[in-house]
Amino acid sequence: MVEYRASKKSTCRICGSGELVRYLSLGDQPPSNSFISQAEIAAEQAFPLDVYLCMSCGLSQLLDIVSSEDIFDDYAYLSSTSRALCDHYQEMIDNVLALLKPPPGSLVVDIGCNDGITLNCYPAGSYKTLGVEPSSAGEYARERGFEVVDRFFNEQCGRDIAASHGKAKIVTATNVFAHVDDIVGFAAGIRELLDDDGVFVIEFPYLVDMIEALYFDTIYHEHLSYLSLAPLDRLFADTGLRAFRVEKTDVGASGPALQLFVCKRDAGYENDPSILEMRDAETAWGIKRIETYERFAGRVRETGDALVTLIRDIQKHGGKVAAYGAPAKGNTLLNFIKANTSLIDVVAENNELKIGKLTPGTHIPIVSDDDFMAGGYSHALLLAWNYLDFFLQKSAFIKDGGKFIVPVPKPDIRP
Ligand SMILES: [Zn+2]
Repeated sequence: MVEYRASKKSTCRICGSGELVRYLSLGDQPPSNSFISQAEIAAEQAFPLDVYLCMSCGLSQLLDIVSSEDIFDDYAYLSSTSRALCDHYQEMIDNVLALLKPPPGSLVVDIGCNDGITLNCYPAGSYKTLGVEPSSAGEYARERGFEVVDRFFNEQCGRDIAASHGKAKIVTATNVFAHVDDIVGFAAGIRELLDDDGVFVIEFPYLVDMIEALYFDTIYHEHLSYLSLAPLDRLFADTGLRAFRVEKTDVGASGPALQLFVCKRDAGYENDPSILEMRDAETAWGIKRIETYERFAGRVRETGDALVTLIRDIQKHGGKVAAYGAPAKGNTLLNFIKANTSLIDVVAENNELKIGKLTPGTHIPIVSDDDFMAGGYSHALLLAWNYLDFFLQKSAFIKDGGKFIVPVPKPDIRP
């Protein structure tokens, strides 16, 4: 069993301010991917899952940091298994190549390269590609022929790569930034690595979307920052960089995200109107006003209560309720509503590594799809709600007359 260590920050991850206000508490929760066996219950650890707003720069963040010696993840997600993601990153790389037109042989780097999904989007043989990946997924990128640096990216790492490989024309980091504790060191590493006319593209889930659509189950310990343009403007200004263009994307099941294009402060890229528009929109929305977030927290609590009431009501009328899918984020929701086996009998899952284990914190047994189908359930709480359309069309449960309970933004029964 993995042992976790916790530490608590007292200052903002971006600007260092100590003026931090807690606006949402989801309770003490184990790390979202720490599925356990019956024998491990006694030793299970839980840590506060609380979100704070920095009143100075507007960054929403966790201050309780949970880490473990073991960064290898049994459930490591291999990006390239998703066709939609491959297409999405191809479009991103095509866009940045069209914008920058780097000369052949230029260095292009992907940080958090996973199995090489983004590096694979560059025309073969045209550029020097390099991945940075501290987790075991980097092995898959190596098997595909990519050079991979096995380190956490920071200022020193950026400097070392620039010394050994030269400066980079394009650096990409998708779904990485929000997971980095030393975000200032990461940005400083980008400054060291980037060529004078180089472009850094980051993609991350957008805070405003999370709050508007009530995706509070995307809050979990590994996800340290909930990003928007305002605090990132501050970060880049502090590190000699500049965001010059922003695009909204929707990566299918991965949900809405922002793509931010960043260059060195004095590079020749003019600020695109999209940057000014988003700054104004965030100010009008209330990105630094605590009331914006307190309203969100109120809606989260209402949704949790409504969900429990709905499930109890189904049970009162003779229904039988399980949950469907055991993604990491499902555990935020289950722990928040204090689910147990009187509320949810079992969780159906097709990942062999999870079947037979218990959900972290709530200890609900995870069973195979076959066992779930044999259980005679009338309703299933859809924890992987981002795949709703797919499951409505394809799942045997729905074809058999079953109903999904979709938890957010408002508990709803489908079809
Ligand atoms: Zn701050």
